[in-house]
Amino acid sequence: MKKLRLLGFDAKPWSGISESGRIFLTRSRERWEKYTGESFLIFSDNWKNQLKELESRYSISKEMKPFTRCVECNSMLIDANPEEVRNIIPERVFLSTDHFKKCPNCGRIYWMGTHVERIINDFKEVFNDKF
Ligand SMILES: [Zn+2]
Repeated sequence: MKKLRLLGFDAKPWSGISESGRIFLTRSRERWEKYTGESFLIFSDNWKNQLKELESRYSISKEMKPFTRCVECNSMLIDANPEEVRNIIPERVFLSTDHFKKCPNCGRIYWMGTHVERIINDFKEVFNDKF
């Protein structure tokens, strides 16, 4: 789910009720068979392969907007003024980064650091030249 949010998709845990416009993703064949709305049964237990399954079924690479959504709470991120985040983030990050985003809901601050390069490489491995 966090990887879907990183890619910009509106993803949240199963709430117990069907919601129109949402696709129910599950690895449980039993739940998948019981569900009446649109659903997709995922086979792999490896997140990269899971994304590949979604790509082959839904071509999700066409709709992804990476790093626009909070991975913790699913809200859309907004730009943050560097001065505004100065006291919240490590100083070395503040000194080496120009652009910050923040979550208007939970307050989490985001920036492009080395951790992001790693995930970008992972996404490139999954989506090849589409990422
Ligand atoms: Zn948040």
